[in-house]
Amino acid sequence: MNVAFVASEVVPFAKTGGLADVAGALPKELSKLKCNVKVFMPLYGSIKKQNLKLNYVWSIGKIKLDIGGEVRNVEVWQIQLKDSDVQVYFIDYPKFFKRKDFYTNSPDEHLRWILFNKAVIETIQRLQWSPDIIHLNDWQGGLIPLYIKENYNWDKFFQKTKTIFSIHNIGYQGLFPANIFNETEINSKHFYPTGPVEYYEKISLLKAGLVFSDLINTVSETYAKEILTEEYGGGMHEILNDRKSDLSGIVNGVDYEIWNPKTDPNIYKNYTSAKLSDKEINKEELLKEAGLPYNKTTPVIGMISRIVSQKGYDILAEALPELTKLDVQWVILGSGEKKYERLMKKVARKFPDNVSIIIGYNDVLSHKIEAGADYLLMPSLYEPCGLNQIFSLKYGTIPIVRNTGGLADTVIDWDKSVEEKRNDGTGFVFDEYSGHALFKVIERAAVHFNNKKVWRSIQKNAMKKDYSWKASAKKYIELYEKAIEK
Ligand code: ADP
Repeated sequence: MNVAFVASEVVPFAKTGGLADVAGALPKELSKLKCNVKVFMPLYGSIKKQNLKLNYVWSIGKIKLDIGGEVRNVEVWQIQLKDSDVQVYFIDYPKFFKRKDFYTNSPDEHLRWILFNKAVIETIQRLQWSPDIIHLNDWQGGLIPLYIKENYNWDKFFQKTKTIFSIHNIGYQGLFPANIFNETEINSKHFYPTGPVEYYEKISLLKAGLVFSDLINTVSETYAKEILTEEYGGGMHEILNDRKSDLSGIVNGVDYEIWNPKTDPNIYKNYTSAKLSDKEINKEELLKEAGLPYNKTTPVIGMISRIVSQKGYDILAEALPELTKLDVQWVILGSGEKKYERLMKKVARKFPDNVSIIIGYNDVLSHKIEAGADYLLMPSLYEPCGLNQIFSLKYGTIPIVRNTGGLADTVIDWDKSVEEKRNDGTGFVFDEYSGHALFKVIERAAVHFNNKKVWRSIQKNAMKKDYSWKASAKKYIELYEKAIEK
């Protein structure tokens, strides 16, 4: 099966969130299952061609694309993904992609992604390679299903091609003002109030993807159900309900070659569930690095995320007066909304022995927190899948999560499991999205921390969990087969 996998970020080349982890790992696993996978992404300025030894694709040469009234010369670079047969193709147009951030608010943002979508299609054509499946991820690839069906339907290469659209976060929709419509080169019959690409008088690249792809999926089963509701659908629930029989959920896996305390080169000391005293060394070192005093009996809560309301920062802010009374320490890594960054910095100044906040994006430190913290907190309002809680299970760092999306699918509440005599809990789960409920769950989780026997049971349950990509990749193959039969 030929699979073109299109993503705006891919580990190890570019990452701001979970999509990059998925795009770096799923294609490798698919290729082990006899798929011929090619990944397509932009060549951002941060990706250094020389250092990575990318190969210029001579057979493609310069692709001339007429975008926004200007002819653009696009070039393509290629490399093989490490330890795999997966080929990654980088769409090179420096004027658009050599910018400080991957995503911008600049007036030509739409042109960047129109160019990317067309360039991917034309690269596939020039490779003389006919994909059975084009797998799009989030709105940055949203125009491809429509372009394939209409703008490029003359090409026999795409006659049998089916498209899958994966939603990694429905909150990001690729909305652009109506006056850029002509530059999309979408047939004007699709742009009218409530039409296939229209969203409240704007153009939505997400909606275009949802309407024109052959199948839609998202990254956990619970989120697939949640987005059918008005509360979680981000305005797309009606269109998703129309396509309910084409919508499914497959939980993300993780790449245990990267996220495994036994081999992780980024952490202070490697460990396994057989010798958790080595995990304690990670705690001591992490606290040293974070500038907090070490105390064996005081639990450390780690947080690694974008600092935005979606990740629960509003209820965290609400709960701070209560939370700061508990005997716990916090190591928080992330960046995002300034008001929360400022608030957390203020709290850290007020409680210098208990709270440390590191603003920024730091991959190595994120591994150290996974290894050194006792708990990992994800109190998200919504969470399509969430990866940190899955990483943390493997590190014996107990997740405290809200009962939503992928968090609900991957964490089993310890107390509930004891009540039901299963004793298979792996973390702590709370329902209500409020500061008080957040405080209550942390208070409840902290009760078990100094009960060594119970604590070890929870850690062992967690570390035994296997969320490797293998099982989920098989489900993707089934999804691709379903699309092909359609
Ligand atoms: P989302 O994609 O919504 O941001 P996920 O939990 O699915 O959330 O994935 C986030 C990914 O990005 C994880 O791999 C996480 O470790 C990483 N990450 C988030 N913020 C940071 C940060 N400040 N520094 C390093 N890694 C981060």
